[in-house]
Amino acid sequence: MLIVMRSHATPEEIRKVCETIEEMGLKAHPIPGAERTAIGVTGNQGEVDVGALEDLPGVVETIAVSKPYKLVSRELKPEDTIVRVGNTAIGCKALAIMAGPCAIESYDQAMTVAEAVKKSGARFFRGGAYKPRTSPYSFQGLGIEGLKILAKVREAFDLAIVTEAVDPESLAAVDEYADMIQIGARNMQNFSLLKLAGKARKPVLLKRGMSATLDEFLMAAEYIMSEGNYQVALCERGVRTFADHTRNTLDLSVVPAVKRLSHLPIIVDPSHGTGKRDKVIPLSRAAIAVGADGLIIEVHHQPDHALSDGAQSLYPTQFERLMSEIGQIAPVVDRTLT
Ligand code: PEP
Ligand code: MN
Repeated sequence: MLIVMRSHATPEEIRKVCETIEEMGLKAHPIPGAERTAIGVTGNQGEVDVGALEDLPGVVETIAVSKPYKLVSRELKPEDTIVRVGNTAIGCKALAIMAGPCAIESYDQAMTVAEAVKKSGARFFRGGAYKPRTSPYSFQGLGIEGLKILAKVREAFDLAIVTEAVDPESLAAVDEYADMIQIGARNMQNFSLLKLAGKARKPVLLKRGMSATLDEFLMAAEYIMSEGNYQVALCERGVRTFADHTRNTLDLSVVPAVKRLSHLPIIVDPSHGTGKRDKVIPLSRAAIAVGADGLIIEVHHQPDHALSDGAQSLYPTQFERLMSEIGQIAPVVDRTLT
């Protein structure tokens, strides 16, 4: 259910509608837009009794949202959402380019890679302090020590920090140290973690599960938003198919599909999407051409010695080339690099 307020509805009118919704035992989500404020209503099992709401001052109309996801839906909010991250943003004209190693391995490694990606024009730094690994014997990340290194990277290079949380404990720590909380593919349907991310202060980067349909992906975002955190960006990182020439199959068609159904921004991860260094630049070009709001790219100064995902990590010089190529494509799709 969506309540549309008239374009100059007063804060008092909006507050009264929200109060009435809460009195009905439901949850109100005021979503300010360019033209008008919409108030999403969630928590209802069946139809909402709109009688009490329709007559309130400032209400123009009530609309039933036909999709299973409500807050994520374009029906609720026609304009694109801009997600604010530190001093920068995702979903505006400037592309959001995130780069950095798969995992934070040491202070020197993080600083070396950060200096290089900053020089090439990245505005976000990625790097896992908590790594979800297939094998329990693989490097699991530096934990809090890794987060402290990331905070130093931000200080030194003014890069917005994006890093993954894997459980409630790491989520609280990431919320404290980083600028954006990454929920990884393996946790896309960890509903208790999604709810906690919905209560966090920082924006969330939600990666698509490796076998998730678009509806499941959007419903996962709905879990976060239903708890009151509306700052969510989506990330396509490839899905499992029978094809074995790449690590995953990067589903670029999901970008225009998301744009049609949702107001949330979506970025693309060609590193995990392909698993192979030589495929990352071509798929990055394609992602920008198809309308993605940005990229998340793994870069390592010594990929052969990386503790995880070396095979898909770009050398800094390759990342520099990628940025130059993206810079040429950006104006064609009405975007900029900075
Ligand atoms: C990552 O970005 O570090 C990562 C583990 O990605 P994904 O969750 O997409 O596998
Ligand atoms: Mn990785």
